[in-house]
Amino acid sequence: MNGLRAVLAAADTAARWHAEQRRKGEAQEPYINHLLEVAHLVAEATDGRDPDLIIAALLHDAIEDSGISEAEIADTFGADVAALVVAVTDDKSLPKAERKRLQIAHAPTKPERAKILKLADKTSNLRAMAKSPPANWSHERRAEYIAWARAVVAGVRGTNAWLEAVFDDAAAEADRALAAA
Ligand code: ZN
Repeated sequence: MNGLRAVLAAADTAARWHAEQRRKGEAQEPYINHLLEVAHLVAEATDGRDPDLIIAALLHDAIEDSGISEAEIADTFGADVAALVVAVTDDKSLPKAERKRLQIAHAPTKPERAKILKLADKTSNLRAMAKSPPANWSHERRAEYIAWARAVVAGVRGTNAWLEAVFDDAAAEADRALAAA
């Protein structure tokens, strides 16, 4: 498959795999909005030069949230894409607090392309936290989430200056939204 066709095949597949899912925020956006936003950020950050990374961005939550296997991804989209998705997938057998701690600890050890994907994911999540935070989250929980996202991103800095600046804007926006809440 050439790059453009493969990217659209992944977008179509991601829409199906996450069809039942919504974002946690008050606006309950379709989950595909998040996946497309992350893929778009990755595409801009890399000047569209890395179709496999864009595909991995579209599929980055498929193992964690939709129970898709690494083999299933590898079969259709190749081992490179599957490895990238695995690199940004938490071990769901661990308690949530431990998974969050490990994201901070492991971020600096990830391959550069996985770091770009992580930056884009955290940017999208903080934009959502600014625009449409989960209705049942306390002020404190939102503040903790923003601090945690910053701590993960601290471990991947020096990867992509443009995307890091976009992340910083999203984090500042999340701070402002929280202060105004
Ligand atoms: Zn995500």
